[in-house]
Amino acid sequence: MPIEAAYDIALVGAGPAGTACALALRGSGLRVLLLDKATFPRDKICGDAVPGHALKALRQLDPAYVDALWQLEPRDDVRRSRIVAPSGAGFYMHWNLRTFNSPRLDFDAALLALVREFTDTEIRENALLKTLEITPDCAQLQLADGTEITARLVIGCDGANSAVGRRLLPEPRLARAHHSAGVRAYFENVAGAESGTTEFFFSQNYLAGYCWLFPVGAGRYNVGLGMLSELVAKHKVDLKQLLLDTVKTHPELAGRFREARQLGPVLGFGLPMGGGRQRPCSGARFMLCGDAASLIDPLQGHGIDMAVRSGIMAAAQARQCVTQNDFSADFMRAYDAEVQRQLGPVLARNYRLMRLLGTRPWLLNLGARLAQLPGLGRRLQRLLG
Ligand SMILES: Cc1cc2nc3c(=O)[nH]c(=O)nc-3n(C[C@H](O)[C@H](O)[C@H](O)COP(=O)(O)OP(=O)(O)OC[C@H]3O[C@@H](n4cnc5c(N)ncnc54)[C@H](O)[C@@H]3O)c2cc1C
Repeated sequence: MPIEAAYDIALVGAGPAGTACALALRGSGLRVLLLDKATFPRDKICGDAVPGHALKALRQLDPAYVDALWQLEPRDDVRRSRIVAPSGAGFYMHWNLRTFNSPRLDFDAALLALVREFTDTEIRENALLKTLEITPDCAQLQLADGTEITARLVIGCDGANSAVGRRLLPEPRLARAHHSAGVRAYFENVAGAESGTTEFFFSQNYLAGYCWLFPVGAGRYNVGLGMLSELVAKHKVDLKQLLLDTVKTHPELAGRFREARQLGPVLGFGLPMGGGRQRPCSGARFMLCGDAASLIDPLQGHGIDMAVRSGIMAAAQARQCVTQNDFSADFMRAYDAEVQRQLGPVLARNYRLMRLLGTRPWLLNLGARLAQLPGLGRRLQRLLG
């Protein structure tokens, strides 16, 4: 006798990927379970810059979602970025899509609140997925507290250390050339920082990476440093210490941080990047989204948009699976193809750009000079997306 699954879809992880997927499944009539090991609001180590494309994708689902997110406090509405080359020369880039920075503690809780308000999704917090089996009839999930759950399909939205990916992908680990390490801390009282402007500092000291200074509202700043893991390992870099040294010694930042107050510890986390050899992100009865599918933009290090967009694509595929009653690995490949079609080209281009610019500081210096020339700045902006 085939097992009757308790849910049609089990979404593991309630970050941007899992919540976007749940929002995109609204009105499907499917029995959807969204589980997360954390209790919200929960922190997520991040730069807290919400990419405009994340809001655009959510707006396409329902403008009410984005209208609600624009009420979030604290937040800082972003209009432009300032890029500072290793030479110290800086230039501004103005963004077409309106967006904001907001601490992930608040942003992710707001996304989950939308799922609660607008959908029939069953939400379980404090629910750590421990193990997972795919059988011919269903996915069998076991939680750390011993609870067993069955679903016709499982969607792994459980981030960079995805338990679903570890369990179900044939080669779950990314090469260090496709992985970055990032650290961040919150500060207040930073001099010379402008609301509405995110700042990026490049230096010979952290190649294939950068230091960022992002206002997140309420007079606070998310200050961080990210770098290609390959180089972190090769040069044995202590990223947390490098961040603290950078704000004390960088020619521009040192003065601006003289009176600054650090508001908590420096915390670090991994960034699995896209743009390399495309790894599968699905198989029989499962799909992976967001960081679990290694979709972070290798150039700028943003992944909230990729998480939201892949979550929405997975929801479309999930509806197809149920309609056709087909959960085979073959059928699921349509999801991989769609991820590749929508996100693959930009990730591949940005990976090449990151390798090119990240190891040649003189190119960044030249870019900063060229950006001052009328017309060229706009072209550069288009190139960087
Ligand atoms: C230092 C740093 C800076 C960054 N800065 C930016 C930025 O400024 N802008 C940007 O767009 N992106 C940034 N990113 C990337 C961004 O944080 C991620 O791409 C994004 O959070 C991915 O969303 P997600 O939903 O895939 O995963 P996550 O946001 O990681 O959510 C995964 C969820 O799964 C849950 N979970 C994990 N394991 C389990 C389990 N076993 N059982 C149950 N639940 C589980 C977690 O609790 C979590 O809630 C940064 C990343 C880092 C590390």
